[in-house]
Order: sequence, then structure tokens, then C-alpha cells
Amino acid sequence: MDDQLVHLKDRALAVALDVVLRDVKATCAVQPIVHEERNFMGLGEDTIMLYAPGGSGQGVSVSEWQGPAEQVADLADQAQGWAVEELCAAGKPATWPECPTHPDSHPLEAGVVKGVAVWSCPRTRQVIAPVGSLSS
Ligand SMILES: [Zn+2]
Repeated sequence: MDDQLVHLKDRALAVALDVVLRDVKATCAVQPIVHEERNFMGLGEDTIMLYAPGGSGQGVSVSEWQGPAEQVADLADQAQGWAVEELCAAGKPATWPECPTHPDSHPLEAGVVKGVAVWSCPRTRQVIAPVGSLSS
């Protein structure tokens, strides 16, 4: 395996995760313990796991053929899956990140608009904020 490729892929994941975790830290009621697993399950790939305080974990990854914005949006989507499950397990409202336009209704949806990873309202398609800039 080409060591440099592995390194670059790691770096893309680290960069995207940094952006996404800003939103998690700012607005989510459950916080992941982030752990890097080298050679995950012996498959030769490195994975980052998001662990809950209770111990359940979910692997997150980005594809090297995606652009940086797609990687951030994709990772935001994976973090959302983790957060919703953990909020539910913690008996909290399983909506993250909550749509500010429609409280107690639905979470925002991650996507790419004009080359930027953003959170949008799934009902109105309105862009709420770039991924990484949510505040409580
Ligand atoms: Zn909405």
C-alpha cells in the first residue's frame, strides 16, 4: 500500500472531522469520544470511531474521490447519524442539529450548495449555516 496515499486520506478525514466536530461541540447534547483505529478490522484501512460514553461506537470515513466540501457534508451526515442514535439512547430529543426555523420538528440536512458544505432545512431547502459554524 502507498503510504503517502494513506497519509493524505487520513488528513482529509482529519480536516473534515475538525469542521464537523465544531458543530457537535457547539450544539449537541451528547459528545463523542473520538478514537482513531489503525487498520480497522484488519482491512488495511484507517477509520475514525465516534464512541458514546456508554461504549457504542460508529466508524466514520470520507472517500478520497470526493471534493473537500462533499467530504465535510458526508461526514456531517455520518455524525448526525451517530448523534441521533446517542440522543435517543440518552432519552433526549433525537433531533440534531435542530432546525431553527421549525423547532421541535426536524433536524437540518447536510449537503453541498455552490461548493460549500452547508446545513439546510429539509422542508424549505433554505440554507441555515455552513457546516462548522452552528452555535447554540
Ligand atoms: Zn426546517
